[in-house]
Formats: sequence, structure tokens, C-alpha cells
Amino acid sequence: MPHYSAFDRFTIKAATKAAELVMAPANRREVFDQFVMTVTAVTELSEHMRRITFHAPEFTSFELTGPDEYFGLLTASGRELVMPADDRINVRTSLRAMAEDVRPDLRWYTIRAHRPPAGEIDVDFVVHGDAGPGTRWARLAIAGDKAGFRAGGSAYRPPTSSSVLLAADETALPALSAILEVETRPMHVFVEVPDESYRVDLDVEWVFRRSGAPGSAVLPAIQGKALPTVEYAWACGESALATGVRRHLVKERGVDRKAIMFSGYWKVGSARM
Ligand SMILES: Cc1cc2nc3c(=O)[nH]c(=O)nc-3n(C[C@H](O)[C@H](O)[C@H](O)COP(=O)(O)OP(=O)(O)OC[C@H]3O[C@@H](n4cnc5c(N)ncnc54)[C@H](O)[C@@H]3O)c2cc1C
Repeated sequence: MPHYSAFDRFTIKAATKAAELVMAPANRREVFDQFVMTVTAVTELSEHMRRITFHAPEFTSFELTGPDEYFGLLTASGRELVMPADDRINVRTSLRAMAEDVRPDLRWYTIRAHRPPAGEIDVDFVVHGDAGPGTRWARLAIAGDKAGFRAGGSAYRPPTSSSVLLAADETALPALSAILEVETRPMHVFVEVPDESYRVDLDVEWVFRRSGAPGSAVLPAIQGKALPTVEYAWACGESALATGVRRHLVKERGVDRKAIMFSGYWKVGSARM
């Protein structure tokens, strides 16, 4: 088990407290497991989404903190995978300490399913061309490939028996699907995807952005809906979508900002490390 310095632990505590002043609390980890995993299967879910199954013995005892559990995927396309040191809480600090020619790429993904007895996880990747190391790696992955796993945490943490609104795009569909699998309360769920070909078999309100910017379809859909008081909201996806939904809920519906979990899973025109 890695031993983190007092400075690292203080920094993460301060960052957590600061975040909780402006958004809903997340599920935090004390220890960030890190290990190498092996691809065991690749399934084409659609022309846009690939499910990659990974195996690692560590997954037999790994514990999820919540349904939308995310992790850092460390890849080294075309090179040997060299893992960063695991003694820092912030994996980016460890990556910066590595020589550039061996430093792996880091991108964040969701554990769509976890099967402890088999030591497996499934991860659903949106394949959006060749623009970044995440999509590049996922597009070419085959059984036997190696990638690094760095534990993250999870964000979905509504109070019991509250009225919940969820908003997501295609990158947050794996997290949203996992949340819906464990939720029993009725919820208001909005999903914005580029067009009908991204739709999956989920009974939610689907909206299509077609050639519009992220958030351009889901915001009017939420604004135009008569909803009961929203007591907790989770809005994840492209940055403008997540912040736009939050702004609407706070400014136009009077939702407490500390009752909204939002995360920019990606940003048009920028890499998301
Ligand atoms: C907590 C968390 C959980 C996530 N879970 C998932 C998940 O389960 N599945 C998943 O597919 N993604 C998920 N994402 C989003 C994923 O990390 C980003 O899409 C990331 O940018 C992909 O890295 P990349 O190397 O492909 O592109 P980057 O190097 O980050 O970006 C390169 C270019 O590609 C563009 N780009 C990035 N993503 C997309 C996209 N989806 N569509 C179109 N253009 C894009 C960027 O704007 C940029 O111009 C998650 C992100 C977070 C923070």
C-alpha cells in the first residue's frame, strides 16, 4: 500500500473542502491503487462505442466507491508501458517527474461494470477518431494489450429520498447507465448525443445536438420541462453542457449549488488529462 506524505494528504483535504463549497460532495478514496491490466476482449457496441474488457488480479479485491467510478487510464501506444511511481496522491505529479520519452498518456474513463470474481472490468470508450491518445489507443486495442490503471473515485452521491435530475452526453453514458442500474427512485434523466446513431436502449429523455455545440440541445429540453423541485443534480459530459446545466439549475430554478455535482468530462478543442 503506498504511503503518502503529510503535505500530499493536506493538499488533497484542502482541495476537497474547497470543492465542497461550490458543488455536491463526491465519494473520495484514501488510497489510489495503481497496477497494470490486460485487455481480454473488445466488443463493438456501435459505430461510435467500443467496450474493452480488462483483467487484472487486483480487480478481485478492488472496491468501487460509487456507481460512476472513474479511473485514470495510462497508455503508451506503440511503446512499452512504463508505470509512474504510485507514492503521490496526484498521479499528474508522478507523471511530470518521468522522462518524456517513457511517460505514459493519462485519460479518465468510467468503470461500466466490475466483476470481482473474474478480476475484470468493462470500459465503454467513445471512439472519436485519432485526435487524442485515449481514442487512438481504444480504437486499436486488441486482446493481450496492456494499459495502466490508476484508481480515481466517484461523484454520484445524492441524499436519500431526494428528487434527482441527471444530465449526460455520450461520454457520460457509461456512468449514467451504471447509476440507473442501482437507482430505484423515479428520476428526471436527460441525455444529449450528436445524433440518433448514438442512442442506446435506455428509457430517458433523448435529445440530439446534430450540428450544434454541446449543451445546445439538452439545455432547452431541461428549461422547457415542468419539473418538481430538484434536490440533487448530476451533470456530466462536455464542459459547456455540464456548466450550462448547472448555471440553469442555480440561476433559474434556485437549486443550491452544493446540491449539484457537475464535471466537464471533455472540452471541445482541448485535451483532457
Ligand atoms: C470522470 C470522467 C469519466 C469519463 N468516462 C468516460 C467514459 O466512460 N467513456 C468515454 O468515452 N469517455 C469518458 N470520459 C471522457 C474522456 O476522458 C474524454 O473524452 C477525453 O478527452 C478522451 O481523451 P482523448 O485522448 O481521446 O482526447 P483528448 O486528447 O483529451 O482531446 C483531443 C481532442 O479530442 C476532442 N475530444 C475529446 N473527447 C471527445 C469526444 N468524446 N468527442 C469528440 N471530440 C472529443 C477534444 O476536444 C480535443 O480537441 C470521462 C472523463 C472523465 C473526467
